[in-house]
Order: sequence, then C-alpha cells, then structure tokens
Amino acid sequence: MKVTFLGTGTSQGIPIIGSTHPVCLSKDTKDKRLRVSVLIEWDGQNILIDCGPDFRMQMLANQVSHIDAILYTHEHNDHTIGLDDIRPFFFRQGDIPVFAHKRVLESLKKRFEYIFESENKYPGAPGVTTNVIENKPFNFNGFNIIPVNAMHNRLQIFGFRLKDFAYLTDVKTIEKEEVDKLRGVKVLVVSALRKESHHSHFNLEEALEFIKEVGPEKAYLTHISHQLGFHEEVQKELPKNVFLAYDNLKIEIE
Ligand SMILES: [Zn+2]
Ligand SMILES: [Zn+2]
Repeated sequence: MKVTFLGTGTSQGIPIIGSTHPVCLSKDTKDKRLRVSVLIEWDGQNILIDCGPDFRMQMLANQVSHIDAILYTHEHNDHTIGLDDIRPFFFRQGDIPVFAHKRVLESLKKRFEYIFESENKYPGAPGVTTNVIENKPFNFNGFNIIPVNAMHNRLQIFGFRLKDFAYLTDVKTIEKEEVDKLRGVKVLVVSALRKESHHSHFNLEEALEFIKEVGPEKAYLTHISHQLGFHEEVQKELPKNVFLAYDNLKIEIE
C-alpha cells in the first residue's frame, strides 16, 4: 500500500492569501501546504480521502490517472469543494463511487445539485454513485474499510482504517472504543492544527497524546496551520516516531 499526502494544510492553506506571517513567507517547500487529502494506492485501486479546493492541482502534481473511490471525512468545504473537478475522471471512467455519512451526502447534494440530478442533467456535469457509510466496516471491491467515529467539536466525522494504515483529520475528541479500532496500525495519520488549543481541532499536544494512546510504529501529522511554525523547527521537537507530513510526501505500508 502506498499513501501520498496530496495536501497537509488547514482550511486556508499555507501561505494564506495576503499574509506576511514568516511561515507564509517561508521559502521551504515543506512550508507550502495545500488543503488536506490523501491518495491510497492499494492493489491497483486508487482510493482518495476527501476532495477539497486544491484537488485539480493535486491530481496534476501526482499524475493520477484514475480514481476508484472517494471517501469523505465530513462536509466542510476544505474537504469537499473540489468535487466538480472529478470531471476528467468521470469522462474516462463513468460515475465515480463516493462514500460518506448520510448527512455529508445530503450536504453534497445541496451544494452540487447538478451532479446528483437524474433528469435533464447537463451533459458536461460529472456523475457519482453514492454509498452511505455507517459506523461499521464496509467492503469496497474486496477491500475492508473500517470507519472510525470521532468528534470535530459538535460535528461527527469519520476517520478510516485500511489494513495497517489509519487516517483521522479534524478530530477534537474520540471515544475509547473507537481508539480500540486503531490498535495495531503501523502508520497513523492525525491532524494537529497548532500549539495553542482550538475549539474543534487537536492541538500538537493533544495529537501527541492520542498517538501515544494508539501506539503506532510511525505517526504523521497533517491539517497544519501556519501558526504551528516552520516545518524544519517543529520536526526537531517531535518524538522519534512522529513526523510532520508535507505535500507530496509518499510512504509505503507493508
Ligand atoms: Zn478541515
Ligand atoms: Zn472540518
């Protein structure tokens, strides 16, 4: 299994438009972060988690030629608003399967009404097949995918475990029985917004505590704000098995 970090930034991305913050002005390419998403290549299948505003550039940067499924964590714009740009995949492949909580699919239907229309649909509009996810494992083309329920302040969100890889972003709290679903993962990806606390996201300290509780071989931090600091400096402060993810980083999981 190969995982590509397509984007590792929080909702505004880094740099923020017009910002003169030193991290936004950094020349280090690792300090430039598109909105969060990962691509999982698993036995020839391309599974995308989230499809945000930078989706098109992310697909071009990584020369992605097909998408077999899109899993959504939640409905916030930085995770969903790139859906229209699946058009090139749709033109080649037909309807793209999307998997999300019922509430998230309802939200997508409101925002992308034309994609979900069944009659008199505009010929250039993309198409999807919708799959409702509940908090129980599901099968996709023979692959077992385990949703992991967490809270983003008051909003329910899903993380996902695929074999020995797990990805959770926009987490603030998580129940013990959900943490138990992550036991034995080799690689855990979790969001860490900044050092100061935040009402709906883990800060760095909370993310590190969570990693300790799960106990993966390696952990990667994502959904990073410019307020966390320079990539190079923050990396030096982290435990030996914890890494700041950066855009276009690729990792292999056996
Ligand atoms: Zn987000
Ligand atoms: Zn969010």
